[in-house]
Amino acid sequence: MPENKKLVSVIVPVYNEQESLPFLMPRLLSAMEGMNRPFEIIFVNDGSRDNSLRMLYSFHEANPKAVRIIDFNGNFGQHMAIMAGFDHSRGEIVITLDADLQNPPEEIPRIVEKIDAGHDVVGTIRQNRQDPKFRKMASRIVNSITNRITGLQLNDYGCMLRGYRRDIVNIINQSFESTTFIPALAQKFAVNPVEIPVMHSEREHGTSKYSFFRLIRLNFDLMTGFSLYPLQAVTMIGMAVSILSFLFVLFLLLRRLVVGPEAEGVFTLLNINFFLMGITMSCVGIIGEYIGRIYSEVRKRPRYVIRREWDIND
Ligand code: UDP
Ligand code: MG
Repeated sequence: MPENKKLVSVIVPVYNEQESLPFLMPRLLSAMEGMNRPFEIIFVNDGSRDNSLRMLYSFHEANPKAVRIIDFNGNFGQHMAIMAGFDHSRGEIVITLDADLQNPPEEIPRIVEKIDAGHDVVGTIRQNRQDPKFRKMASRIVNSITNRITGLQLNDYGCMLRGYRRDIVNIINQSFESTTFIPALAQKFAVNPVEIPVMHSEREHGTSKYSFFRLIRLNFDLMTGFSLYPLQAVTMIGMAVSILSFLFVLFLLLRRLVVGPEAEGVFTLLNINFFLMGITMSCVGIIGEYIGRIYSEVRKRPRYVIRREWDIND
């Protein structure tokens, strides 16, 4: 193998992917071998309860020089799995890839090419995305809101087939965040990022590991982790409501002097009240989202726990 070419690490988070893994491994391996440069594949087993770990171990046995395994002792989430992979990776170029083959491993050489060409972060935009319609609509909305409030510029936050240069990975490794969103974190530190279109296909094996509520939580991580705008919005809503109600008081005062007291419209009043209570509760909720995250950061618990590791055998 040409030694002057930089080592490429591929990080694959794995959570109950026994249906996909047998299809993933041969395709990933041939994509990597096709590049004709040194590489390592790091599987991070994120507390799978199925046969995934056993399968990963067989990959490691078959390719002891290329396949590494980091085995978590529980489910710490996709982003923490990637964090652990970053922390243990040795490559000058680091690629992240989902295990479910929605993003074809065959695209990896194009990402590596972009990094060789001098980009430090290579993002991807899913072409003709094959996901349920509501997920696509939701992520279009989320992408545009997120760009607006975080001040980042990314066309597709959700696609995890991405490439990072070593210096960016090192910066990310120094960010000890327990709730984070890696593409956004990388984008924040990137000097010369680029986004390229990649193919996207349906999940053929197994099911999505994100429930609706987990997706919402992940999006809260993204919003709160990269912006204080929601908090400022809360303050502004509060000020607007105060001004409006002050005007309303003035109006009622004048009305009382001119027309006399009013007693009708009880339900209107109730309705306005409920509306304002709703706003108040969601504002408290937004503040709570931040406080909860501050709480989990200050506890400084380990972000993930590694049970066992299988490194490359030389
Ligand atoms: N994943 C993980 N831990 C989790 C959830 C997911 O490591 O708690 C992995 C999963 O095995 C897959 C990737 O993260 O490799 C993306 O998950 P999935 O394809 O289910 O997400 P979706 O494509 O539905 O957003
Ligand atoms: Mg997927």
